[in-house]
Amino acid sequence: MNRLSFLFWLLSAACAAAQTSGSQFGTDNYVEYIPGDLPLILTSPHGGRLKPDGVPGRTYGVTGADANTQELTHAIANEIFTRGGRRPHLVFSHLHRSRLDPNREVVEAAQGNPSAILAWEEYHRFIEQARAAVVKKHGFAFLIDMHGQNHKGERVELGYLHSPAELNQPAEVLNSPGFVARGSLALLVKRSKMPYTEILHGTQSIGALIAANGFRCTPSPQMPVPDEPYFKGGYTTARHCTGQTTGFQLEANRTRLRDTNGNRLKFARAFVTALEHFLAAHMRVTLRK
Ligand SMILES: [Zn+2]
Repeated sequence: MNRLSFLFWLLSAACAAAQTSGSQFGTDNYVEYIPGDLPLILTSPHGGRLKPDGVPGRTYGVTGADANTQELTHAIANEIFTRGGRRPHLVFSHLHRSRLDPNREVVEAAQGNPSAILAWEEYHRFIEQARAAVVKKHGFAFLIDMHGQNHKGERVELGYLHSPAELNQPAEVLNSPGFVARGSLALLVKRSKMPYTEILHGTQSIGALIAANGFRCTPSPQMPVPDEPYFKGGYTTARHCTGQTTGFQLEANRTRLRDTNGNRLKFARAFVTALEHFLAAHMRVTLRK
């Protein structure tokens, strides 16, 4: 190997290492954690495709995958990196949802299969690991649990752990400390000086900011109370958006949002613009260097 080809080989090896460095995998590569350097964690439980022989199909509960949500999560992470040179932490389940549903408690999630139980434990351990690292470095963590829904009408559903009936109450109820404490944004509300109603569906809500960037959204000023069916946030949001971690569940519609590479990129740009504004307004943090 001459000097030039050695240098070329060294460069290619370094590039390959840079692409994969930092990824941590669970047993049999069923779950993956890609550490970042932002106080932001994106989790993707339902976009996996693996159907290994050792993990039988689940026999009850929802088994359909959220198509292209891993790709959407990567598109958002890449957009954040392109703008500010920093990366969110990413946690993926690579098992198809028919084999494991990490957004349920373990009995329904794994349905007794030892490999699925182990993958469930490792998935949530990676989230705990990310939360601990982020809180140690930044004092808080912001988590977004990434999903895809197929409800009628195109809209992004934001889940803060409140049902439509709960959201359809007078402002004084929504702004009371007891109600705030039951939602996934409790820490954000504490840091923001704005009332909870403003953060849920006012002009400074993430729903308003996403809608202003071209994607229908609920809760938002246009639709403060979602009509049913609506996903209010599941196991991951309830378990992990506690203490010094805050955040929400995001349910993306498919058409014109996550169906093609170009549409995922368009949404990623709109969403990152909205998220940057939201986090600056309420948490006083930037996603940029
Ligand atoms: Zn889902």
